[in-house]
Amino acid sequence: MGEIRVLKTIGETRAQVLKYKKEGKIIGLVPTMGYFHEGHINLMRKARKECDVVFVSLFVNPIQFGPKEDLASYPRDLEHDIKMASKADVDYIFFPEVSEMYPERFQTKVTAGELSKDFCGASRAGHFDGVCTVVSKLFNIMTPDFAYFGMKDYQQLVIIEKMVEDLNFGIKIRRCEITRESDGLAMSSRNTYLTPDERSAAPQFQKSLKALSCEIIEAVKCGKNLNLNEAVNRRCDEILAAGFKKVDYLKIADAQTLNTISNFDQLKKSREIFIAGAMFIGKTRLIDNIVFEI
Ligand code: AMP
Repeated sequence: MGEIRVLKTIGETRAQVLKYKKEGKIIGLVPTMGYFHEGHINLMRKARKECDVVFVSLFVNPIQFGPKEDLASYPRDLEHDIKMASKADVDYIFFPEVSEMYPERFQTKVTAGELSKDFCGASRAGHFDGVCTVVSKLFNIMTPDFAYFGMKDYQQLVIIEKMVEDLNFGIKIRRCEITRESDGLAMSSRNTYLTPDERSAAPQFQKSLKALSCEIIEAVKCGKNLNLNEAVNRRCDEILAAGFKKVDYLKIADAQTLNTISNFDQLKKSREIFIAGAMFIGKTRLIDNIVFEI
C-alpha cells in the first residue's frame, strides 16, 4: 500500500477502519509500546501475511507502569519506528497522545483475574489491569479480525486470550514465537538500557532456562525424581554468578493454567510446561521464558 500513515486520533482511526470494514477487508492489529526491534517486526510480518490491512498501535501506556518503574525513561523514537515498520509493509501506525486515550475523568478499567496473580503480576501490582484496559480500548477502536502478541510476554498473552474469551471480543489472538539475538538474548526495547558488561552477561538467562527445561525433559524421560526447588535454585545461582544482580522470580508452571508446579508428581500431570523468570541486571529488569511439551 506504500507509505505508512500515522494516525493520532481515535476519530480518524475509526473512519479508516470503517472504510475497510465496508469493503470486507481483514484487519490485523499489532499492539506495541514502540522502539521497534526484530521481535516487533516479526509480529508485523505475520500480520501482513494474514491480513488485508495492518494497524500497529504505538502507545507507551502509563497505567500499566508502577510508580517506581521506567515510564519516563522508556525509549521512544517515532522516526526509527516508522522506518522499521516499513520493513514489514505496515499500513497504519496508531500513535495517540496520552490525553487521547485517557482524557480527564477517565475512570473505567478492565480487571485481569487469577492468571495475573503470580509471575510478573506479583511484582507489578496493577500492571495487567492496565494492559487489559488499554488492549480493550485498542480492540474497540480498531475492531481487528486478528491481533498479534509475542510469547516473550507469555503471561500477558494468556491473560489477553482469556479476556477475549471472557468478554466476548470477536477477535482471534495470534501467538508469535520469541525473537532472539544470535546469542540467545530475547529481544526487548529494554535491552538498550544494558551497559556493555551487562549485555555480555545477559544471554546466561536464556541458557539457564533452556538448561532447566532439558533437565526436566531428561528426568521425565528416565523416570528420575528431580527436586524442582533445588533445580530452580541451582539455575538462579548460575544466573547470579554470570553477573545478574537479583532474581525477581524463576518459576515452573503449567502452560495453560499458569498454576505453579512445585513437585515432580504435579509436573507429570501437565502436558505443556512454562518456565518463566524475571531478573535484574544492573537497574534493568529482564523477562524471559520457555514453553515446552513433556
Ligand atoms: P512491547 O512493545 O514490548 O509492549 O511489545 C509489543 C508486542 O511485541 C508484545 O506482544 C510483545 O510480546 C511482543 N514482543 C516484544 N519482544 C518480543 C520478542 N523478542 N519476540 C517476540 N515478540 C516480542
